[in-house]
Amino acid sequence: MTKVLQNVQMVNEQGELQIVNITMVDGKITEIGQNVTVAGAEVIEGNGLVVAPGFVDVHTHLREPGFEHKETIATGSASAAKGGFTTICAMPNTKPVPDSVENMQLINGLIKESAAIRVLPYGSLTRDISGEVRTNIEELKAHGAVAFSDDGVGIQLASTMYEQMKDAAQHDVVVVAHCEDNSLIYDGVMHEGKRNKELGLPGIPSICESVQIARDVLLAEAAGARYHVCHVSTKESVRAVRDAKAAGIRVTAEVCPHHLLLEEMDIPADDANWKMNPPLRGIDDKDSLHAALLDGTIDCIATDHAPHTVEEKCCGMVGAPFGIVGFETAFPLLYTQFVETGKWTLKQLIDWMSVKAAQIFDLPYGTLEVGASADMILIDLNKEQTIDAEGFVSKGRNTPFNGWTAKGWPILTIFEGNIVYQEVE
Ligand SMILES: [Zn+2]
Repeated sequence: MTKVLQNVQMVNEQGELQIVNITMVDGKITEIGQNVTVAGAEVIEGNGLVVAPGFVDVHTHLREPGFEHKETIATGSASAAKGGFTTICAMPNTKPVPDSVENMQLINGLIKESAAIRVLPYGSLTRDISGEVRTNIEELKAHGAVAFSDDGVGIQLASTMYEQMKDAAQHDVVVVAHCEDNSLIYDGVMHEGKRNKELGLPGIPSICESVQIARDVLLAEAAGARYHVCHVSTKESVRAVRDAKAAGIRVTAEVCPHHLLLEEMDIPADDANWKMNPPLRGIDDKDSLHAALLDGTIDCIATDHAPHTVEEKCCGMVGAPFGIVGFETAFPLLYTQFVETGKWTLKQLIDWMSVKAAQIFDLPYGTLEVGASADMILIDLNKEQTIDAEGFVSKGRNTPFNGWTAKGWPILTIFEGNIVYQEVE
């Protein structure tokens, strides 16, 4: 059956808004144009709102299997759909870890059963993400691993990283790294800077992240591997990635919305809803992340959606797990803070959240063009709303942005031609 999303404003290559209709058949886009109409088609009225490709999030935690009290594939993917995402990559710190064919098949089965959108699982780089025994990259790739990571922990041994990078290069998959040298964490719960001293809390120095990135880009060069850095947070990390790119090393990088929006001095108190890894850094670090996005050193934006229970986050930073939720607030916050204020264009933000992310992993998603999967969202740029964590579709309530007001809310999400989220007035 043919469907038409009609009367929507699409951002063209020049960044201008153009009114178009978009037709879809069997989950694919078949036509985009000003005079496209199809007799008898099912019409979805766009009311002149902005259409964008469904967002692509290459860094998410869905917690299932193993931690269903925090989130499930069903609730996490529904939360993503509400935030405008249609493709998300799920990190492997689940129980069991996708480190064997058997575990990969288990996770693929769960995704097939309950995902509202496209969920692409990572395979782990080591067994049980313990950094010790290497996984079989060829086998896991054959069973659907989109890329490889031990996210949640850094790979401590250079030789383990190097050997896996060589295998990844041979099978043309990307190694994705949470960079953290365990000998430099010092039991920290926030950035080692000014604010942690005021609050009397142990700090994680910037070098904890940046030294491992510096090591890894050299390993990637030697291995000929494609290497992607998760959640870059420090100015030294930015410099390491920038220098590596200039040297022709195949490195890409992502940044999270919270690191673009917040810095350490914004942390109001010893409140675990402000605890994430990497932590909120200094103002100089935040500024360098913005510069890096604009000059292409950082390739895309990823949420690092990391739900935890209210009980886990209730009682200060020291005992709480790291992480905050991100799907349902990412676009409106970034739009309001950086597009409405004229720092970025709408096209830049949409690209960083869709096609630029997809390109890192050669995913054919995140674009609005004929022949592409009919994954698209409608955004009401004028709709203003206060963030209320109690209203999240995610099981997680752990956000530092509760009570913030933002504009630019996704109100309709179409995945493979079907509506998977629609705002109810
Ligand atoms: Zn991480």
